[in-house]
Amino acid sequence: MAKILEPTPENIIECAKAIQSGDIVGVPTETVYGLAANVFNNSALTKVYQTKDRPAFNPLIAHVYDAKDLVALEKLGLIDASKLPPAAKTTAEKLITKFWPGPLTIVLPKNAKVPDFATAGLSTIAIRAPKHPVMQQLIQKAETPLAAPSANRSGHVSPTTAQAVDEELGKSINNILDGGPCEIGLESTVVTIADDGKVQLLRPGAITRENIQEIADMTSVGDSQKILSPGLLANHYAPSKPLLLLPSAVLSLNFTNSTELIRKQFPGKPFQQLKAGVLLMSGDTDMAEIYLSGLLGLNTICRKLSVTGDLREVAKNLFKEIRNLDSQKIDLILVEPCNSEAGLGHAIMDRLRRAQVKH
Ligand code: AMP
Ligand code: MG
Repeated sequence: MAKILEPTPENIIECAKAIQSGDIVGVPTETVYGLAANVFNNSALTKVYQTKDRPAFNPLIAHVYDAKDLVALEKLGLIDASKLPPAAKTTAEKLITKFWPGPLTIVLPKNAKVPDFATAGLSTIAIRAPKHPVMQQLIQKAETPLAAPSANRSGHVSPTTAQAVDEELGKSINNILDGGPCEIGLESTVVTIADDGKVQLLRPGAITRENIQEIADMTSVGDSQKILSPGLLANHYAPSKPLLLLPSAVLSLNFTNSTELIRKQFPGKPFQQLKAGVLLMSGDTDMAEIYLSGLLGLNTICRKLSVTGDLREVAKNLFKEIRNLDSQKIDLILVEPCNSEAGLGHAIMDRLRRAQVKH
């Protein structure tokens, strides 16, 4: 069983030594908890893939301590800056200066020193400088960049507390550093940079399209996304109970549009025999329970993701509340959509669409 360790200097050093000797450790970041390994150690990387049951085609993100520019990344043996055209170099430097340390992952040409295993055989490597102080200290003490995918079994909901890491992987790892609940609660934004310097968004996150547009031009990825970012599976971040994304806020649902979804999932089953966990973006949970019982005859447990509807609060609580409902005696999880897909709404809706059952 894993030990959950307070982030004291002694415990951080103990975990850094474990990483240096090829072990893997559960670590806090500001996005979600990670499973960290020395990015240059093939056998540690193997452990990461095995422990997560992660498909070998899904590349890892290398985490660095507050690198200031591309030169620093080249010195660490991570990138080959000579392969970046000048316009792309300029954009990369701008992104690093503006958003690091923080929840932005940048895909860059890989240095020959990086094992193919870390990048799933791609000629590029994804890199991020996290902001969480415990993760920063761990990287410094380990004296190597850390490959750290989310600390969950592949396809599951990412953990946002040390206890959730323990539930996911506690049987297979020795140590989890407890850095408290993750401040952001969603995985990092992932971008790549085209030869003309334009930024392509591969995965939305807390650094939004609008944030990036303030300093760089963006281009859409479209159908090439699959090739550019092989790990972005349509079916991901999923709880074990079927999760259905509602067509509107609970109090605006009508009988027709809400029953269709549930009927498809539970054909022939009377709604009175179903119990649903319901996540509201915000609002009155008692009213929602009464409304759903009156409208559909459904028994529900309703929870809200935020008090005011602030999307930062929604993001922070989302995975924790999905995990919580998933562990209750319910048959399905219903989630309200965000009002808007601008800003952080883009990343939240992206995760909900991937978490929902496929029809
Ligand atoms: P995770 O660490 O589990 O949040 O997943 C990292 C994600 O980053 C992967 O699933 C990919 O979508 C993306 N990624 C990592 N490396 C690359 C790369 N070299 N090129 C494009 N996307 C990448
Ligand atoms: Mg993940």
